[in-house]
Amino acid sequence: ILATQQLEKKIGDNLVLKGIDSEVQAGQVIVVIGPSGSGKSTYLRCLNLLEQPTSGEVLFEGEHLNQLSETDLDQVREKMGMVFQSFNLFANYSVLDNVNLAPLNVQSLSKAEANKQALALLNQVGLADKAEAMPSSLSGGQQQRVAIARALAMHPDVMLFDEPTSALDPEMVGEVLNVMKELTQTGMTMVIVTHEMGFAKNVADEVWFMDDGQIIEKGTPTQVFDHPQEQRTQDFLSKVL
Ligand code: ATP
Ligand code: MG
Repeated sequence: ILATQQLEKKIGDNLVLKGIDSEVQAGQVIVVIGPSGSGKSTYLRCLNLLEQPTSGEVLFEGEHLNQLSETDLDQVREKMGMVFQSFNLFANYSVLDNVNLAPLNVQSLSKAEANKQALALLNQVGLADKAEAMPSSLSGGQQQRVAIARALAMHPDVMLFDEPTSALDPEMVGEVLNVMKELTQTGMTMVIVTHEMGFAKNVADEVWFMDDGQIIEKGTPTQVFDHPQEQRTQDFLSKVL
C-alpha cells in the first residue's frame, strides 16, 4: 500500500536518508526504532511528502507521489493520517470542532453528520464526555487521543505516528498506547516510530531498525528483539532494553 524505492533525503550537506527501500502491506503494523538522529522522523515525513525527497520514489496505493501535482498530493495526504509528538490541537476550538474541522471543510458532510462521526471517534478514544471541552483543559494524554481521533476523522488508509507518547508524562503513556493498540485491531495500516519497546513487541507485525539513514534490519518482534542479526541493532537494544 505504501513503499519507497531508493529514497534519499539531503538536508544541507547532510545525507539524512541513504537510499531506503521499504514496503508496507495493507493492514500491517510497522514499528520503526532507532537512535536519535537516525532519520526516523525524516523518513515518516517523506512518506506523505511533508518533506520532498532528494531522490528516489514514494509509492502510495500504486501512485508515484513525486509525480503528482500539489492538488493531487493534498488528496493523497488526506488518506494518510499523521500524529506527532506534539499534539498541535487548535486551541480556539472545542475538542469536537478539532475533530470536525477537516471533515467539514473537505468532505461534503452536514454539520449533524460530522458531529455524529466526531462523537463516535471521540467515543472510540474514550473521550466522548470531553466533546465540548477546550483542548487546554485536557491532560497531555487526552489531547493526544483527540489528535488521533482528528486524524481518523478523514478516514485514512494509513496512519503514521511519530513518537506519539514521548512528550507525555509517564502515567499518560498507557492510555495513548491502548488507543493505538485498539486501532491495530481494526486492521488499520500503521507505521509507528516509538521508543516504547514493550508496545512494539506487542503490536508490531514487523520491526524496522533504523540507523544512520538506513534501515539496517527488519523482522518480526521476536527476530529483531530476541535474535538481532546486526551488531548495530544489538548495541542499540542493549542500551534501551
Ligand atoms: P529523534 O529520535 O531524535 O527524533 P530521528 O531519528 O527522528 O531522531 P531525524 O529527525 O529524522 O532523526 O533527523 C535525522 C538527521 O537529519 C539528524 O542528523 C538531524 O540533525 C538532521 N535534520 C533533520 N531535520 C533537519 C533540518 N531541518 N535541518 C538540518 N538538519 C536536519
Ligand atoms: Mg524524530
